[in-house]
Amino acid sequence: MQTGFLDHITETLQGIEADGLLKREREIVSSQSGRIQVRDARGTREMINLCANNYLGLANHPEIEKAAKAAIDSHGFGMASVRFICGAQDIHRELEQAIARYLDKDDAILFAACFDANGGIFETLLGPEDAIISDSLNHASIIDGVRLSKAKRYRYANSDMDGLEDELKKAVADGTRFRLVATDGVFSMDGYVAKLPEICALAEKYGAMVMIDECHATGHLGDKGKGTPTLTGVGTRVDIITGTFGKTLGGAMGGFIAGPKAAIDLLRQRARPYLFSNSLAPAVAAGSLKAIEIAESADDLRERLAGHTRRFRQGLTEAGFELLPGETPIIPVMTHDAVLAQKLAAELDARGVYVAGFFFPVVPKGQARIRTQMSAALSEADIDTAIAAFIDAGKTIGMI
Ligand SMILES: *Cc1c(COP(=O)(O)O)cnc(C)c1O
Repeated sequence: MQTGFLDHITETLQGIEADGLLKREREIVSSQSGRIQVRDARGTREMINLCANNYLGLANHPEIEKAAKAAIDSHGFGMASVRFICGAQDIHRELEQAIARYLDKDDAILFAACFDANGGIFETLLGPEDAIISDSLNHASIIDGVRLSKAKRYRYANSDMDGLEDELKKAVADGTRFRLVATDGVFSMDGYVAKLPEICALAEKYGAMVMIDECHATGHLGDKGKGTPTLTGVGTRVDIITGTFGKTLGGAMGGFIAGPKAAIDLLRQRARPYLFSNSLAPAVAAGSLKAIEIAESADDLRERLAGHTRRFRQGLTEAGFELLPGETPIIPVMTHDAVLAQKLAAELDARGVYVAGFFFPVVPKGQARIRTQMSAALSEADIDTAIAAFIDAGKTIGMI
């Protein structure tokens, strides 16, 4: 290796650690759930998990596990191919049709991850004559996907509808051919829901299409868990939806794009992460199919999740913590300071509550937080235990 290179890398790492920004991974030795077994220097402990995207608690659902195991028996372990060479099975196509039907779209296409779906969509569908108008808080995968496309880029401050209108006007004045507004349906760091009624109205006024990333919505928000279009009442006015099977819908892995048939057909021909990456494992495809079926009829789990969200918000607000407002199961507890976020996380860890501190570069500097996430896998008693732990930890470090 070239002299000095590894010294340079090591210095960078030391800088990250000195800034209090080093992320350390912990080890879970159980399945993902509301209560998990965590192994660290202190041994193996049971903890209450407040940081998984396991909103409906489907990550270890017995019926999903059964469907996945059955698919290994009937369809094998792996595909060892991309879709267009020899990587497409009946269950892959079934999964595409199921997610398209669930989200009221013509068709859908699978990716290894939503990161890839967002990485492939813009370059494929839009050219240099076109415009992408993007919310400043969009997920990193949208930002990277937009960078890969040759379309003109316009950016507005998070959920600033005057800003969106200004950018749409600019895009029209620049003579762009097609315009696409791209936004997260739920902003993952803050838990805010995109202002879809206003976004759709502005898009229609300025001749633009709307694409939303529903990773933190599909399965648990809106009517039957169909996400933010039903939650906000815009329905099929949203043109294209990207999403994941790696969160509410079983939490394994895999992404998708759902939309008009012609767009999906073109993505199958041109989207690079689709053309040049392996097909989903059969067990993942079959488990995700079962997860859609379960999520669609899981009003009971959605109610339980909403109840936990209200209970936890109320408990922490009354205790004097600063939360970002909202109704989604993402509840950010603000510390602002990265070191304080890590201190709070460590104190919670010692009290059996599993959380993660979020700080730069995942959120802007000065906006460090503990992002908690509710799950239907938790009990009301778990929520109360977690609230008590937050209060005790917060007092110990002088936050409240
Ligand atoms: C998690 C997430 C992704 C990435 O999804 P994967 O399937 O894990 O790659 C993309 N967009 C948003 C908004 C997300 O929250």
